[in-house]
This record gives sequence, C-alpha cells and structure tokens, in this order.
Amino acid sequence: MRQQFVAGNWKMHGSLASNAALLAEVLAGVGTARCEVAICVPYPYLSQVQQLLQTSQVALGAQDCSVHQSGAHTGEVSVSMLQDFGCRYVIVGHSERRADHHESDVLVAAKAERALEAGMTPIVCVGETLAERESGLTRAVVLRQLLAVTHLLREQTSRIVVAYEPVWAIGTGRTATPEQAQEVHAVLREHLRTVSEAAAGVRILYGGSVKPDNAAVLFSQADIDGGLIGGASLKAADFLAIAAAT
Ligand code: 13P
Repeated sequence: MRQQFVAGNWKMHGSLASNAALLAEVLAGVGTARCEVAICVPYPYLSQVQQLLQTSQVALGAQDCSVHQSGAHTGEVSVSMLQDFGCRYVIVGHSERRADHHESDVLVAAKAERALEAGMTPIVCVGETLAERESGLTRAVVLRQLLAVTHLLREQTSRIVVAYEPVWAIGTGRTATPEQAQEVHAVLREHLRTVSEAAAGVRILYGGSVKPDNAAVLFSQADIDGGLIGGASLKAADFLAIAAAT
C-alpha cells in the first residue's frame, strides 16, 4: 500500500517573515492530514524551516543538490550539507532546472544517486513540454527521463519518489486532466514494474497547477499517489486543502 504524499515546492519564494507566517498556519492545520507532508524550501531558509518544523510531522526537503560530494564547485550545495539541516527529501530534475540550467537526464540520475547515498529520498521529476505532447512524444520523453534514473539506480529505484510534471501545466493554471495524468502515471508505473517488484511500489506524484478544486479527483486516480505543489503551497489554506484531498 503506497502512502499518499503531498510535497510543497516553494521555488524561489519566501522571506524570513513570510516563511514564519506561512508555516505557523500550515502547522496549525496539518495535524489532521492522513498523507505524508513535506516542504521543499530555498537553501538559505533550511535552517529556519528546520527549526520551525522540529516538533511537527512535516518533513523538510531541498529543491536541488550538487552532483559533487564536495570540492571546488562555487555556488553548489552538497547532499551532506542538506543532511546537516535535516533534509529528508531533495527534488532533482525539476523542469525549471532542466530548462534554465540545461540539466541532462544523466546528470539528474547522478544527483538522485548522490541523494540516496546520503540516505535522503530524491523526488525525481519527469515531464514533457507542450510541443512534445503535441508531437505525440509524451510517452517517449517521460520514459527516456525515467530510464536514465532506473538504469543507474537499478534495485535502489525502490527508494525514490517520482513526480510527473507536464511542463505545460506548471504555473499555467492549465492542469492535466485526471485521465491525461493517469495515462502517463500508468506508463511510468509499468516501467517501474520492469525494474523490480519493489520499484513498482514507488510513489508517483502529479505536479502542475494542482489546486484545492482539482486535487481530490487527481489523487483518486489509480496510479497518482499525491502531488508536488508549487503556487498553491505558498497559501496555507490551499496547501492544507490539497493535503486533505488525499
Ligand atoms: P505549480 O503548482 O505552481 O503549477 O507548480 C508545480 C511545480 O512545478 C511543482 O514542482
């Protein structure tokens, strides 16, 4: 049985003051959530948020990590540094990083491997662009992205979380229909099944304009195990409503 999981991705939003206010509201309401909840915050706020989450059930995550363990890599942050701040999760391969920083499938897979080596859980993002979907390439693209990871990790694949985030649905208000999302999740699940029985149990989250009014129907799909939430994770009431929809 896969426990549903709702993770917030704050992206490059927040300040010391606004984080404290947002988390006070989230923590006041999250006690009743049946699903697992995590929040992935910008690096400079890891210490602040670690302290605020200390006695709560909400897990802490980062939004990226370096593929290197340490060394002369200016501006990079290693998984061991994230661990120092109590991160349980790290997002890797978000489409914004793939696009803005030209991250390849192989690099993303290596980052996932670094996270696992450190005892953290990578949330590996996959997803097609609008042009790829319109050219009928959705299946090929998401499988190519996932295959790079499963090929490298093999049996360890069972320890990751996958997030399907169609690029055209991110921050656009244009959500994949539950059927469109389920179709891709089933493709991903089918591939995970070929890796191992344990990998078939990997949680696959949907991300892309998840809101309180569409969360329940998305999460009720057979292969959708929760969500990776961008914009709506910045509003406590919306984030809590989404967590309650699992
Ligand atoms: P939105 O929920 O803002 O569309 O963002 C989704 C996302 O990219 C989460 O990682």
